[in-house]
Amino acid sequence: MSEVKRIAVLCSGGDSPGMNCAIRAVVRTGIGAGLEVFGIQKGYAGLLEGNIRALDVSSVGNILQHGGTILQTSRCPEFMTAEGRKEAANLLKRKKIDALIVIGGDGSFNGAMALYNEHQIPVVGIPGTIDNDIDGTDYTIGFDTAVQNAVEAVDKIRDTANSHARTFIVEVMGRKSPAIALKVGICTGAENVILPTATIDYGKIVGDIDRGIKRGKTSSILIAAEGEVEGVGHTIQKELKEKFNLQAHVCILGHIQRGGNPTPTDRLIASQMGHQAVKALVSGEFASATVFRNGKVVIANLKDCLRKKNEFDVSDVELLTLLSI
Ligand code: ADP
Repeated sequence: MSEVKRIAVLCSGGDSPGMNCAIRAVVRTGIGAGLEVFGIQKGYAGLLEGNIRALDVSSVGNILQHGGTILQTSRCPEFMTAEGRKEAANLLKRKKIDALIVIGGDGSFNGAMALYNEHQIPVVGIPGTIDNDIDGTDYTIGFDTAVQNAVEAVDKIRDTANSHARTFIVEVMGRKSPAIALKVGICTGAENVILPTATIDYGKIVGDIDRGIKRGKTSSILIAAEGEVEGVGHTIQKELKEKFNLQAHVCILGHIQRGGNPTPTDRLIASQMGHQAVKALVSGEFASATVFRNGKVVIANLKDCLRKKNEFDVSDVELLTLLSI
C-alpha cells in the first residue's frame, strides 16, 4: 500500500457528543502533518453518494463545544452488501482518497473492517457511541456526556418524587449495554437498577421499596436500561401495578441523553483519539482503532474492536445495592 496523502473522515451509526472534537482533531492533525483532509457527509450513505468536501483548518473552528456532528451521520443498508462496499471503494479511489477514518460504533467498525479486507482501503476506527459498548476499549466518545445528561434529569425527577412520595421508573438509553444504567443508578442513589440482560425480580423491587418506606424514605427511583426496544419502563409499570398494586410513574429520557455540549472528559478523549487516528495512518497502521486503555488513548487492531460488549462489573451492582438501603 502506498503512502497516505489524502484522508477522509466520516461519522456512522448513532451520533454521540464529542464526535465534533474528534473531527476537529483529525482535520488539524492531518493538515499539520501535511495531508489533505476530506469530510464525508452522512456516513457510508454519503460516501456512496459522493458527498465529500475538502476540510480546512477553519471549517472545524468553533465546533468542539457542540453535540451531534457537523458531518452528520446515518445508517446505510447498502454498505452491508459486498456490492455497496465495492462501489464505495471505487469512489474513494476515483477521488484519490488513500485512507478513511470512521467515527462510530461496532457496526460502523465492522463496515470499515470489511472495506479493508475486501479492497485494502486503509481504515482507522474511532469509537463514538454513548453506550460504551465496544470491545477492546474501556471508553467510547459520548458516554460521559450521556451519563451527565441522565444524572441531571434523574436529580430533577427525584425532587418531584420526594415531594409527592412517589415511585418513578426512569428509562435510560443503552440498548443491550448496561453501562449507562449502572453508572446513572450509582450516581443518583437509585433504589434499583434493571439491566438489559437480567430477568426482573419484581418481588425484590417491591420489597426494597417497602423497606425504604418503613425507614422513612419519601421516594424510590428505579433506573431501567431500555433494552432492544424503547418502552420497557411501561412493562415494568404494568407488572408492578397488576401483581403488587404498586403505582409507579414512568419517564423515558430518550434522545435528550444524546444531545448537548460534550463534557470535558469527552472533549479530551475525542481530541486525543482524533489525533492518534491520523498518527496511525501516517505510521502505516492500516486496519486499526484508537482505544482507551489503562487511562490512555492508544492504537489497537481494528479486529479487536468489532464485537459489542455488554459485560459489567458485578461490584458496581453490589455497590448500588449496598448504598441504596
Ligand atoms: P453503530 O456503528 O453505532 O454500531 P450500526 O450498527 O447501525 O451503528 O451501523 C452503522 C452502519 O455501519 C450500518 O448502517 C451499515 O452501513 C454499517 N455496518 C454495520 N454493520 C456492518 C457489517 N457487519 N458489515 C458492513 N457494514 C456494516
